[in-house]
Formats: sequence, C-alpha cells, structure tokens
Amino acid sequence: MADWNGKVALITGGASGMGASVARIVVREGGKVGLCDLNEELGARMVDELGKDNAVFHKTDVSSLEEMTAFVDGSVDHFGQVDAMFNNAGIGGMGSVIDLDEAGFERVIRVDLFSVFFGCKAVLKHMIPAGKGAILNNASISGMFGEYGMSSYAAAKGGVINLSRSIALDVARRGIRVNTLCPGTVDTPLFSGLKKAPSVFDTFVSNVPMGRIGAPDEIGEVAAFLLSDKASYLTGAVIPVDGGITCKTGFPD
Ligand code: NAD
Repeated sequence: MADWNGKVALITGGASGMGASVARIVVREGGKVGLCDLNEELGARMVDELGKDNAVFHKTDVSSLEEMTAFVDGSVDHFGQVDAMFNNAGIGGMGSVIDLDEAGFERVIRVDLFSVFFGCKAVLKHMIPAGKGAILNNASISGMFGEYGMSSYAAAKGGVINLSRSIALDVARRGIRVNTLCPGTVDTPLFSGLKKAPSVFDTFVSNVPMGRIGAPDEIGEVAAFLLSDKASYLTGAVIPVDGGITCKTGFPD
C-alpha cells in the first residue's frame, strides 16, 4: 500500500465517482486532499466525511484557466505543498459529427481536454520549483479507439492521452511524472444514465471480457498507486483499467 503520510494530492471532479474514490484512499493512507468540482453540495459532503484537517474544497469550473489556477494556488496555500494532481473531472459527450453542433463539440473539448491542459499548467508552476511531483490525467479507453456516436468525447480523450505523453516528455528531467489513466466502463453517476436503457447497458457489459463493469474503487486504487512514489519509474504511460476490453478484438461468443 502506498504511503501518503505528509503528502498532498489535488483532485478535480473530487466530489463524485473516481475522484471521490481517490480522495478517500489518499486520506485513508495518511495524506491530505484539495478537491474541486462544480457540485458544491457533494464537495462539502466530502469535506465533512474526510475531515476539515484532511480536505479542502473549492467550487471550480475546470474549463476555466482562471478558476483552475485559483483552485490549485488556493489549495497549495492552504496545505503549503502539492505532491500529486489527478486531473479527473469530465463530462460525457454523445452525438456523431452529423448531429453535433459547434457549441456542443466545443463544450466537451473544453471540459474534458482544456481542463487537463489548465490543470497541468497550474500545478507545474508549483511542481517545477519543487523538483518533484506526479500528475495523472483521466482519459478513457474511448480515447484509444474511434467511438460510434461519441466523436467529441473520443476526440477529447484521445487528446488527453497525447497531451499527457507530451507533458511527460517536457518535465521528465525535472523530477515530475505524468501518466494517463484509461478506465473502461465504470459504475459512477456519469455512466448510470445507461442503466435506464437496459439493452444499451447489456451491450456495454457483454463487451467486457470480465463480464461486468468496474467499481469506482477498482479504478481509484490504481490511480492512487500511479500518483504515489511507489510508481517512481513510471511516466508517459497510458494505462487501461477496463476488465480486458482493450486486449481483444471483437465480441465474446
Ligand atoms: P462522475 O460524474 O461521478 O464524476 C465527475 C465529476 O466531475 C462530477 O462530480 C462532476 O460534477 C464534475 N465535473 C463535471 N464537469 C465539471 C466542470 N466543468 N468543472 C468541475 N467539475 C466538473 O463521473 P466519473 O465516471 O467518476 O468521471 C471521472 C472521469 O472519468 C471523467 O473524466 C470521465 O470522462 C472519465 N471516465 C469515466 C468512465 C465511466 O464509465 N464512468 C469511463 C472512462 C472514463
């Protein structure tokens, strides 16, 4: 188990799903977390759960550089340091290029891709002078393939993958690691809408070699490891945590 004693992790989208899972793991292992999210009510609930000494919350729209910078600077001021950042907040994006208008495409690109650029930019300002740090960006296996009817989401997540690789190269000799997480299908509020359409949900499940979707903590444990010093020789990597989806072609019999 990674040791988070005396360490601080910043987490975007930390009020729910995988972000909340990583926050709970870091605090459980002795660390402290700066959380941001658009959802103030859930953010406040996380601080109550984790304890005011261990967690601070900033209402933030991650698609704004100004707000992301305020979140990062405010959290570093509060705790006096930052060791790790999980750029995790994101939204889904349905619609093919035929249906999508410019505003719809731009919204997903801003929330899912620009946010990662903004988060890295804001936190590197602190990590570079410190000469250490770990960044993990949450993409998706949707960034590794084309996706039917999800062009904005697949484009944004594909962008996150190669943005992360490029930043990893930019800072590799400055003691900072940058990796990309690619979850498969995970049981979070972002995904739960599909449960209302059983046929679509069944298609997702049957596409997973392990035969089930993932739980947030099954991704959170991997993410917390990648953000920790235990992963000290890992940078520029793209890591699927997907029940086997990306290791196959076609559907099971
Ligand atoms: P979630 O909905 O539980 O959590 C996402 C959080 O991001 C929410 O709390 C939401 O309020 C916040 N958020 C959304 N837009 C924001 C904005 N503009 N500013 C600040 N916060 C904002 O969903 P999750 O599944 O835990 O998603 C986390 C990440 O994982 C996302 O980037 C998502 O694309 C990615 N992902 C999810 C799945 C899945 O199946 N659930 C699969 C692959 C990748």
